[in-house]
Amino acid sequence: MKSSAPSQLSRRSDATTQCGGAPLGARKRVRYVWHVGVKTKNWAGNQRCVPVAVHQPTSTTGVAEVVRRAAVAGARVKVIGAGHSFTDVAMTDGHLLSLDGLNRVLEVDGNDVTVQAGIRLFELNEQLARRGLAMPNLGDIDRQSIAGAVSTATHGTGAGLGNIATRIVGFELVTGDGSIRRVDEANDPELLRVARVGLGALGILTEVTLRCVPAFNLHAVETIEPLADVLDDFEAVMHSTDHVEFYWFPGGRRVQVKRNTRTDEPAAPQSKIAHIRDKWIGENLAFGTVCRVGRRFPAAAPKIAKLITASASERDVIDRSDKIFCSPRKVRFLEMEYGIPLDAVPEAIGRINSLVPSLPFPPMFPIEVRVSQGDDIPLSTAHGRTSGWIAVHQYIGAPYEAYFQAVEQIMNDYSGRPHWGKMHFQSAQTLASRYDEWEVFQAARAELDPAGTFANAYTDRVLGPVAVFA
Ligand SMILES: Cc1cc2nc3c(=O)[nH]c(=O)nc-3n(C[C@H](O)[C@H](O)[C@H](O)COP(=O)(O)OP(=O)(O)OC[C@H]3O[C@@H](n4cnc5c(N)ncnc54)[C@H](O)[C@@H]3O)c2cc1C
Repeated sequence: MKSSAPSQLSRRSDATTQCGGAPLGARKRVRYVWHVGVKTKNWAGNQRCVPVAVHQPTSTTGVAEVVRRAAVAGARVKVIGAGHSFTDVAMTDGHLLSLDGLNRVLEVDGNDVTVQAGIRLFELNEQLARRGLAMPNLGDIDRQSIAGAVSTATHGTGAGLGNIATRIVGFELVTGDGSIRRVDEANDPELLRVARVGLGALGILTEVTLRCVPAFNLHAVETIEPLADVLDDFEAVMHSTDHVEFYWFPGGRRVQVKRNTRTDEPAAPQSKIAHIRDKWIGENLAFGTVCRVGRRFPAAAPKIAKLITASASERDVIDRSDKIFCSPRKVRFLEMEYGIPLDAVPEAIGRINSLVPSLPFPPMFPIEVRVSQGDDIPLSTAHGRTSGWIAVHQYIGAPYEAYFQAVEQIMNDYSGRPHWGKMHFQSAQTLASRYDEWEVFQAARAELDPAGTFANAYTDRVLGPVAVFA
C-alpha cells in the first residue's frame, strides 16, 4: 500500500489519504489533508463521517494490509460501497475503504460468476447481459455495489425468490486480523451460510461468486386498482406472477400495481421519448417539483398525493430484466422498510392508514409493498419466513420522525425486521429475539473479528459489542 497526496490519487491504484489523526504504522507527523474520490456521506445526505484516513486498495492483499495494520494499531475499519444506505451502517471515524477499484468480472463458470466485491450492480448487469446471463431478481435501483447490497440483505420483489445474498455460492473474505479466507460449499459451508448477510461486521468481502440465470426478458404491466381489492385477496395478488409490488399513498383508495412476468417474447421497450416522459420527467422531475411544493405547503400535501395517484399511468412493456427491475431515482428521500409475515400485511396497512390523519406532517411519498421468499441466512431480514415488505418514505428535508416511529410501533407487533440499510430506531436488545439464529451470527463475528475491528456506531447499536464465547 502506498500513501499518496490527494492530487496523486487514482481510482485505479492503491492509495491512502490521511484525513486526520495518526497514519497506519507511520512515525512522521502528517499534514491533515482531505481525500479525493471516496464518499464520506450517503446518497440521501443524512449520514456523514470524518474518517481518520481513506484507502482505495486495488487488490485483496491491499485490503488485507490495511486491515492488518489497523488491527495492530487497535483502530476500526469500514468499507463504504455506493453509500446508498440510509443508516450509518457504512460510516466510520476510523479507516474508511472504498473498493471502487475492485470492480472486475473474474471468472464465469456456467451460471456461476465471480466478481470483485466493489462492482456496481449496473456494471454487473451489463457484464452479465454480454455473457447471456442475468440476476434472477433485483431491487428498484442498480447503483449499489454488490458487496454493499448483499451485506444489508437488499431485495426485490417475488414470492418465489430470495434476496440478492441468497445467490452467493462463494466469497473471499478478509477477516479481523487481515487473513484472507476463500469460502464456498466445499470449503466451510456453514460460514458460507452465515456470512452472506454480514452488515460489514464479519470482514471485508473482496470477491463474490453469484449463481446467475440465463438472461431473460420481463413483461411489465402497470395498472391502477382499488386498494380494497388488492388487500382482500392480498396473498393471491402477491403470488399472481413472478414479481408483484404496489405503491399506495396513505389515505388513498387506489394503488399502482406493477406485475413483471418472465417471457420469451422479444423486447418491445418504450420509445426513448416515452421512457424519458415516464421515468425521468414523471417519476423524477415532476414528482420532485410537487414534493418541493408539498414540503413548503404541507396542508396541500394530501391534495398533491391525490393528484399524483390520479396521474399515475398504466404501462405495458417488454424489456431486458434488469432494465425493468431498476429505474433512475433522482428525487432524494429517506426510507424505512420492514419485513413482516406476509399474511400480516393487509392489517398493518389498515393500521398505517388510520394513523396518517393524526401525523403532524403528511407523508409525501407513496408506500411500497413487496414480497420475498424466506431463506436460511441468520441475519437476513427474510430469515425463515416469506416476508411482506412495507416501505415508508419521506421527501428529504420534510419531517419524518413521527411518521416512521409510529409505523415502527405497528411493525413491532408483527415481529418486524427493519432493512439493515434503511432507517429504524431499533437496538440489539429489541432485535435479538426477532432472529432465531442471532447467536449463530454473534459466534461467527466473535471468531472472525474478535477485536471488533469492523465495528462502528451502527453495529455497536444494532449488534452490540462482539460477544465473548468460552
Ligand atoms: C434510491 C435507493 C433505492 C433503494 N432500493 C432498494 C431496493 O429496492 N431494495 C432494497 O432491499 N434496498 C434498496 N435500497 C437500499 C440499498 O440497497 C442498501 O442500503 C445497500 O446496502 C446499499 O449498497 P451500497 O453499495 O451503497 O452499500 P453501502 O450503503 O455503502 O454499505 C452498506 C453496508 O455494506 C458494507 N459493505 C460494503 N462493501 C463491503 C465489502 N466489500 N465487504 C463487507 N461489507 C461491505 C458497508 O460497510 C455497510 O455496512 C435502496 C437505497 C436507495 C438510496
